[in-house]
Amino acid sequence: MDKLQAVKGMNDILPPDSARWEWLERTLCDLMARYGYQNIRTPLVEPTALFVRGLGEVTDIVEKEMYSFVDAMNGDQLSLRPENTAGVVRAAIEHSLLHDGGKRLYYMGPMFRHERPQKGRYRQFHQIGAEALGFPGPDVDAELILMCRALWRELGLVEGRDLRLEINSLGQPHERRAHRAALVAHFEAHHDLLDDDSRRRLHTNPLRILDSKNPAMQPLIEAAPKLIEYLGDESRAHFDGLRRVLDAAGLEYRVNPRLVRGMDYYNLTVFEWITERLGAQGTVCGGGRYDPLIEQLGGKPAPAVGWALGVERLLLLLAEAGVAPAPVPPRAFAVLPSPAVLAQALPVLEALRAAGVSVLMHAGGKDGFGSMKAQFRRADASGATWALVFGDEELARGEVGLKPLRARPGEATGAQVTRPLARVAQWAHELLDDNPSL
Ligand code: ATP
Ligand code: MG
Repeated sequence: MDKLQAVKGMNDILPPDSARWEWLERTLCDLMARYGYQNIRTPLVEPTALFVRGLGEVTDIVEKEMYSFVDAMNGDQLSLRPENTAGVVRAAIEHSLLHDGGKRLYYMGPMFRHERPQKGRYRQFHQIGAEALGFPGPDVDAELILMCRALWRELGLVEGRDLRLEINSLGQPHERRAHRAALVAHFEAHHDLLDDDSRRRLHTNPLRILDSKNPAMQPLIEAAPKLIEYLGDESRAHFDGLRRVLDAAGLEYRVNPRLVRGMDYYNLTVFEWITERLGAQGTVCGGGRYDPLIEQLGGKPAPAVGWALGVERLLLLLAEAGVAPAPVPPRAFAVLPSPAVLAQALPVLEALRAAGVSVLMHAGGKDGFGSMKAQFRRADASGATWALVFGDEELARGEVGLKPLRARPGEATGAQVTRPLARVAQWAHELLDDNPSL
């Protein structure tokens, strides 16, 4: 039989690596709560039309990266979500989330894009995202950016060294139209210097030419008219407002007039957090304002701003930077001479777990549990601080033995003590004590 394998570009997340994911998720949830962002979870599958209308027909994602299919049961055109802003906005409209004012939301979960798999680029990947719906001012843009900085710091990354911030303003649609016309004129005047991709984009999405990574195109791109020169007073004021808050917060950034984003829905603020440590896949987090999108998807007009970060890229960066969560071994390992003692031991283990103590049990053997010596070896290898010894002698006295497995440097491990089986709540806390020598 053929070996069954995961789909190319879609990865299993296995222990011990999954612990790093959990650590990141816990850190994130905790941080979001402190900023007042609430969790939202939307389906992995949405109507294809949502992304076509939301992201724009001539974006890379919609043109060539979407997993789209027809529901064989009813003929519906569906897609695996390639990103989650459109889904969040759909849900906000569908459930009138903005009826009593702005909403601060965050999500995390898998996204799907049919790209060429490589380091930091996969077909199923994960994003964490934050969206602030209904707030027009640049202070919310700044809040979202500062939240990223807080996340980097809490994970142990250093901004400046590991990540840097670039910002830009895309202005409003009419300003972009004026700029776009100037841009098309500029590239048309040098049509012979354009590569194939750029020629194709010239009349569909000329802004994307600025994104070209082709070195031969760079001088022409460098000389192209800059959007910032086409911004009106209001757009400028928004950008200045953002910069004032970032400056006041002591956050360093670079204004990159060439920074554009792949999706059509952005206006005003755009930003990216970039690392030099991951080669070509250096954009860890990207976002910006997308005031037109809610109305574009059929909602009552309302401003919006948000960001999304690539979890895999962030974890790669954390590994490059040498940041890792401390492993969390069990506090205690239960050593059981025979299955006969389970009836007495299990209630103790359950009571300990209820009291917050993590306990690993040597279990599942068909012919008993193996020798005590072998179990003590396993207890030690598990990294547990304590062995819980349910030996026949201890049990006969209605007790369990607590044997410290670790010693402080230079000290001998403490001697085993005994505690009553019946009153676990009275001594459970001793197992949470970091100093195992009694
Ligand atoms: P890129 O230019 O690298 O393709 P993008 O502009 O398509 O990125 P966004 O749609 O803005 O990316 O998504 C936000 C973040 O999600 C990216 O900055 C990146 O960290 C992550 N990301 C995007 N596509 C992938 C992918 N295929 N695999 C892993 N992470 C991804
Ligand atoms: Mg992309």
